[in-house]
Amino acid sequence: MFDLDTIRKDFPVLQQKVHGKPLVYFDNGATTQKPRQVAQAINDYYEKKNSSIHRGVHFLSSQATIEYENARETVRNYISARDKAEVIFTSGATGSLNLLAFSFGEKFVKEGDEIIVTEMEHHANIVPWQLLCSRKKAILKVIPFNDTGDLEIEKLDELITEKTRLVSVIHTSNVLGTINPVEKIIEKAHNKNIPVCIDAAQSIQHMPIDVQKLDCDFLVFSAHKAYGPTGIGVFYGKEEYLKQLPPYQGGGDMVDKVSFETTTFNQLPFKFEAGTTNYIGAVGMAEGLKYIQSIGLNNIAKQEYELLTYAKRKFEAIGGITIYGNSATKTSILSFLIDGVHPLDAGMVFDKLGIAVRTGTHCAQPIMQHFGVDGMIRASLSFYNTKEEIDYLCRGIEQVKMMFT
Ligand code: PLP
Repeated sequence: MFDLDTIRKDFPVLQQKVHGKPLVYFDNGATTQKPRQVAQAINDYYEKKNSSIHRGVHFLSSQATIEYENARETVRNYISARDKAEVIFTSGATGSLNLLAFSFGEKFVKEGDEIIVTEMEHHANIVPWQLLCSRKKAILKVIPFNDTGDLEIEKLDELITEKTRLVSVIHTSNVLGTINPVEKIIEKAHNKNIPVCIDAAQSIQHMPIDVQKLDCDFLVFSAHKAYGPTGIGVFYGKEEYLKQLPPYQGGGDMVDKVSFETTTFNQLPFKFEAGTTNYIGAVGMAEGLKYIQSIGLNNIAKQEYELLTYAKRKFEAIGGITIYGNSATKTSILSFLIDGVHPLDAGMVFDKLGIAVRTGTHCAQPIMQHFGVDGMIRASLSFYNTKEEIDYLCRGIEQVKMMFT
């Protein structure tokens, strides 16, 4: 059962007014709002349970460790990973991609080797690979996309060579909304024994993901885009790879024996979790994922698809709006420009109306370069948004058009 009224009551932040107008929150691609359940779990932890994990024999520390490891199990279950050891807590998708680029690069990449990404990546899946490439004198190659916002994945066959070490692709574009055919990409790469990393930062909250069925080798995401807290995320990797990768950071907890001569490392997943981790964040993240499960990812996908098609129809009826990203397989992200209006001007008018949209390059400057624009307006919709809110945005667009054109 999908009861929008009940769901919206779980998000106190949505009940407020901004500039005297009811808040309309359409910036869910940047970060989602948090349900009461997540805030309560975190608050509870600070008030009653706080203690550092893995280190103490005392009651609170043991309890904290159990909760942390339960959170790991919740994530394992959510992505259907084979084993908890394959789930590593990081600071977020960016942290996970930097970990992979460093550790994978250390182990497997040498001068002249190649890494493949797509033209629609978030900077988080470009820059860590560029840093690796400049360290190792390796080469970054790019799968292009066409003007509807679909990857030209047939080009992958030409891009893969015997020097390709890894393909790292965005699952769902944070700008175009395109849901990429990652199954096909994985199949093509695996045919040549090349591992694949999936950036699931914009898909994990919208659709079911089963890493075993998908057969991806690595997968990353952030909790804060999935109704959880900031500063925590996941790096999933197949155990066979994780065992081979060297640690990314050194410090407490990731070690087995330390002396000044040599250090041996802890088992998975702790080898990749140096220092005091964001254990309270992990508990909050698990609560966010459980919240998603309580609504049901299929219900979420259905509701968000309805909102997306409704918004697209309304935009077309208004006219004078260019939507960037028109793939047939698309999630609830609408990036657009109003003819003759700078996105920042529009964004400021929307703000005065209480509407939160994102304006700018959305950490994906190559997409802006593809379309020859400086920036875009992005409305990214969540299941808690309503058709009335979309109507209100459309009235805002009419107002912007009257003011600026
Ligand atoms: N990948 C994609 C597709 C994103 O949309 C984002 C954030 O917008 C990231 C990676 C980076 O996420 P974070 O900033 O939470 O590390």
